[in-house]
Amino acid sequence: MSFQIAIDGPAGAGKSTIARRVSEALGFIYVDTGAMYRAMGLYFLDLGIDTEDENAVNASLPGARLSLQIIEGSQHVFLNGKDVTGRIRSEEAGMMASKTSRYAANREKMVAMQQEIARSQNVVMDGRDIGTVVLPDAPLKIYLTASVQVRALRRYRELLQKGQTPVLEEIEKDIAARDDQDMHRKNSPLRKAEDAVLVDSSDMTIEEVADTITDLARARIAEKGSC
Ligand code: C5P
Repeated sequence: MSFQIAIDGPAGAGKSTIARRVSEALGFIYVDTGAMYRAMGLYFLDLGIDTEDENAVNASLPGARLSLQIIEGSQHVFLNGKDVTGRIRSEEAGMMASKTSRYAANREKMVAMQQEIARSQNVVMDGRDIGTVVLPDAPLKIYLTASVQVRALRRYRELLQKGQTPVLEEIEKDIAARDDQDMHRKNSPLRKAEDAVLVDSSDMTIEEVADTITDLARARIAEKGSC
C-alpha cells in the first residue's frame, strides 16, 4: 500500500519548497503537478493557440506527450521529448497554465497521469486539486496558504536573487489574478478539502512549515501502520 500526502494551495504559498523538504525527510517521491500544467501552457503557447478557444485547446491535446523523470533527485518535465524544466518557470508559462488548466479535457489528461504515478509509490504531490480530485483518499491532506502580500514578497526576493529586476506591484497583481482564476473556475477550482489541515505560512519559516507537515505525516503513517 502506498501513502500519499496531498498539498494544495494558491500560487506562491511555498508548496513546492515545502513538498520537496517533506518528501526528502520521509523518502517519498515529490510530484509537482503545477509543472505539468505549465508544460501544457508552453505547448499551447508554442503552437500559438488562443487560450480563450477551448475547442482549439482540446483539438491540440493529443499532440502533447508529457512525461516526468527524476534526474539526480529532482523532477524534470519532458514535452514531446524535450526537457522543458527550465522554460516552464517563466511568468508567461505560469499564466498560460492558469488560463488553460480550467479546461476539463486538459485536466482529465493530467489527473490520469498523476493518479497513475501515485498508485504504486509513496508520494508528496502538490497542486490545486490534489486533495479534492486527484487523491481524494489521501491519508494526509494539507491546505497551505499565505497572504497575497507575503506571497508576492517571497516571489519578488526569489527573482531578485536570480538577478532579475522584478516590480513588486506587478507580481502582487499577477498572484491575485492567478488566485482569482484558480479559485473561480468551473472545473476543479482551488479549494480546501474538508478533511485537509489548514496551514497558514505567512508568519512561519520554511523549516517550521516543513517540520509541522513532516510530524503530521509521521503520526498518520504510525496510525495507519504502513510504509
Ligand atoms: O503550482 P504552479 O503555480 O506551478 O501551477 C501553475 C498553474 O497550474 C496554476 O496557476 C493552476 O492554474 C494550474 N494547476 C492546476 N492544478 C494543479 C496544479 C496547477 O490547475 N494541480
